[in-house]
Amino acid sequence: MIANPYIVATNLVRIFRSEDVETFALQGLDLTVQHGEMVALIGPSGAGKSTFLNLLSALDRPDAGTLFVGDIDVVAATDRQRAEYRRSHVGFLWQQTTRNIIPGLTARENVALPALLAGVSPLAAYAGADELLDAVEMADHRHRDPLRMSGGQQQRIAIATALGCKPPLLLADEPTGEVDWASAERILALLQKLRRDYALTIVLVTHDSRVADVADRTIAIRDGRTSSERGQDDVETVVVDAAGRLQLPGELRQRIGLTARATVALMDGGIMVRPWSADVSPRTDGENS
Ligand code: ADP
Repeated sequence: MIANPYIVATNLVRIFRSEDVETFALQGLDLTVQHGEMVALIGPSGAGKSTFLNLLSALDRPDAGTLFVGDIDVVAATDRQRAEYRRSHVGFLWQQTTRNIIPGLTARENVALPALLAGVSPLAAYAGADELLDAVEMADHRHRDPLRMSGGQQQRIAIATALGCKPPLLLADEPTGEVDWASAERILALLQKLRRDYALTIVLVTHDSRVADVADRTIAIRDGRTSSERGQDDVETVVVDAAGRLQLPGELRQRIGLTARATVALMDGGIMVRPWSADVSPRTDGENS
């Protein structure tokens, strides 16, 4: 039980609708993160990790559920409050390092830009950029073009840029996805150091358990929910859409070998879903006899 949590997500649901398909990217996600924690969200591709980060960075809104960061109600906030939250409260480190970097600007100009856009005076913005470049050990490279740097160096510039407005929360989507393990280790050590120096809370997404090991805590996400080891008799909650479609957790489908077709039957006041098999499939009209 966390006494004074910083991030509290309760029953978050996010459904993506296209013409005839609804994808339940989040199906009632609950999680809490403590002030100053470094948490790794881990889970297979498609589990809903990036969807959650997008909600946490107020780039997207959930279909249901609540999300508090400190005393900010991220879901109920107005567009203006959400823009302010994005600008001053969260730093975002994208998976592709180059997405964090504006081409044609030097490292120093890149790092100063968020503060300049936020209305900070050029003198203060460049002083802040110099401090951050120092913190990520890239001070000597401040006048270089980041796009000509190595992957690890680019990532350092990207981290400094994400912290340009000194946000209390840093979100990172696969921050070590594009560099080798030696560079990844250095970046993770740097994130730990920055967390201490800038009193950051860090939420990072990864599918690499070595990255997760560096975090204080790992939260496993599967099928749009936080997952724990499930026993045979554990009950799952799934969302049923207006057309009666429900999305069965991949792990349960795997366990019973459920692929493209299933049989359903009323049983004990519920519905039993079994993998379809020619031997036991319900008879269709005309085959009865
Ligand atoms: P992860 O980050 O864990 O790989 P995502 O959050 O990217 O997972 O995706 C969760 C599910 O939601 C996937 O099935 C994905 O295809 C779907 N999804 C994510 N974003 C969109 C979108 N913008 N439109 C439609 N489906 C989406």
